[in-house]
Amino acid sequence: MKRILVSGGAGFIGSHLCMRLIDEGHYVICLDNLFTGSMRNISSLIESERFEFVNHDVTLPYHTEVDEIYNLACPASPIHYQYDAIKTIKTSVLGAMNMLGLALRQNAKILQASTSEIYGDPIIHPQPESYWGNVNPIGFRSCYDEGKRCAETLFMDYYRQNHVRIKIIRIFNTYGPRMLPDDGRVVSNLIVQALQNNDITIYGTGGQTRSFQYIDDLIEGMIRMMNTGDDFIGPVNIGNPHEFSILELAEKVIKLTHSQSNIVFKPLPHDDPKQRKPDITLAMEKLNWKPTVELDEGLVHMIDFFKNNL
Ligand code: NAD
Ligand code: UDP
Repeated sequence: MKRILVSGGAGFIGSHLCMRLIDEGHYVICLDNLFTGSMRNISSLIESERFEFVNHDVTLPYHTEVDEIYNLACPASPIHYQYDAIKTIKTSVLGAMNMLGLALRQNAKILQASTSEIYGDPIIHPQPESYWGNVNPIGFRSCYDEGKRCAETLFMDYYRQNHVRIKIIRIFNTYGPRMLPDDGRVVSNLIVQALQNNDITIYGTGGQTRSFQYIDDLIEGMIRMMNTGDDFIGPVNIGNPHEFSILELAEKVIKLTHSQSNIVFKPLPHDDPKQRKPDITLAMEKLNWKPTVELDEGLVHMIDFFKNNL
């Protein structure tokens, strides 16, 4: 049994990760300030003697004994991370420093939940880990993109200078049960709108693309990455390489929900990436991992979840 700390453990991805780690027999410390996470997400774990919830803000130091740390604390939806941009960048940067400090003191392995956003509006397509990206440093998304880029830098510097046992994964758009209905991200937005027969909001022309990964595939990739030897630190892309335009996604959602909704077009948000698709060659080689849940199947699970939870 390992003692594993999950920062951001009450959020969408974090709660699935905590659940998996508890199922594997570990002791899990979930550190979260409940900004976008909720106790409801972890309600099934609270009774476990191997689960501990700590209401804590990662911008402040935290001390405990741990073997492994998964650093997920950070709002991930554009509406949430732009709500208090200064707090978002502090969470990424100070949060990374505090968690890396803890890993250093404890000689713990630490995994950073980085993001495909570090590629910005990519010119290279699909995106391999060797691509340095095309990021606007002064735009509305910068608090998130540059915060996450700086966190990757900190991870690499703690590795080079202090030999901290780091792992970096770059997560591509992930969806699944326990996303908030008002989360603002496209999969949850479109399904909720379709189920309520409200207008389906497409930003821009809907020609922009994303590659959507189901939560279970991501959790498997995260665990495999953490379990690699200390010589493999990443960064490694974890995502589903099947690419869809947002309009194609909307059509799938309407079909699967038998919705009466109409599609309406709204202005494209600032710096919205035009295309995004992971090159997962490295993950396949080093983690023997590839996604197993395709979009149609994942959408059905997600639709069932919202039917029961709206
Ligand atoms: P989420 O908003 O559901 O979860 C984030 C969690 O972090 C929440 O529980 C929130 O309360 C907590 N948090 C925020 N600020 C905090 C702070 N200062 N101190 C402590 N806790 C704090 O988002 P998610 O989709 O579960 O994302 C989790 C992580 O994965 C994030 O770091 C995000 O950047 C990364 N990621 C997610 C995706 C995706 O598609 N979901 C893609 C790339 C990267
Ligand atoms: N989007 C959309 N309608 C919505 C929400 C999002 O058309 O109701 C678009 C958004 O402009 C972007 C894509 O869907 O092009 C993915 O948006 P999301 O916020 O889910 O993720 P990110 O842009 O961070 O990849």
